[in-house]
Amino acid sequence: MSDTIFGKIVRREIPADIVYEDDDVLAFRDLNPQAPVHVLFIPKRAIATLNDAHATDAELLGKLLLAAAGYARREGLAEQGYRTVVNCNEHGGQTVFHLHVHLLAGRRMHWPPG
Ligand code: 5GP
Repeated sequence: MSDTIFGKIVRREIPADIVYEDDDVLAFRDLNPQAPVHVLFIPKRAIATLNDAHATDAELLGKLLLAAAGYARREGLAEQGYRTVVNCNEHGGQTVFHLHVHLLAGRRMHWPPG
């Protein structure tokens, strides 16, 4: 288990506003939202960064994206659309080293991202 703040959320050692959970994935609202909807989807089994994901993690990575898409559908976000983001390491802007998918919605996104 990872020793990041997200590991503590998985282990329920610190609180989070959890919006989805299954055997492999946990999703909770970002503490510092960048859009009206900003949810983080994390694997319960920590992988530090996308660089650390291997072929054996393919199913888990797919589950993360499908969990995000399912959440968007259930919350009525799918038709207008949303953005999913995975930041990797320093230049990618990653600050928590437990791989996560950001789901941002509720406003029009800009491109290219900053
Ligand atoms: P990253 O920059 O690594 O891609 O994204 C980390 C995200 O985690 C940031 O958007 C940040 O606001 C969020 N975050 C950091 N610490 C906590 C926390 O303790 N609880 C929650 N819910 N979000 C957090």
